Amino acid sequence: MLDLQDLYQEVIVDHNKHPRNFHRMEDANRTAEGFNPLCGDRLNVYMKVVDGVIQDVSFEASGCAISVASASMMTQQLKGKTEQEADTLFHHFQDMVTADADAPVDAGQVGKLAALAGVRRFPMRVKCATLCWHTLKAAQAQKPQAATTE
Ligand code: ZN
Repeated sequence: MLDLQDLYQEVIVDHNKHPRNFHRMEDANRTAEGFNPLCGDRLNVYMKVVDGVIQDVSFEASGCAISVASASMMTQQLKGKTEQEADTLFHHFQDMVTADADAPVDAGQVGKLAALAGVRRFPMRVKCATLCWHTLKAAQAQKPQAATTE
């Protein structure tokens, strides 16, 4: 049952057309750049992390609908969460999109991100959906940038 309508649900189309938190963040203290060569998706993630809490998160991207929608939905889920909670959500999300097509989706674990479960039927698109999360991990791994006069 490879139905593209499964993949491009209304909510994904909406997030792609009107991505949330889609802007550069000038006072971010963690940033990273991500690239998915399989599809050509590129994105930048910006975060403001204070005492282990994600105060703000935004992104810029040029890529397919799935990569943009996934990043948009990710930023909505992460604001106000601790880095630990973000990590847990990442693992639940990763499990969901790589599970068997028939496996149940636990919306209690992934919340609105459940809308992206359809990508599991399209192995090539899993990387589109997880690119933002891998980029987030890269940003989290960074040390806060020291002030500079440049
Ligand atoms: Zn893509």
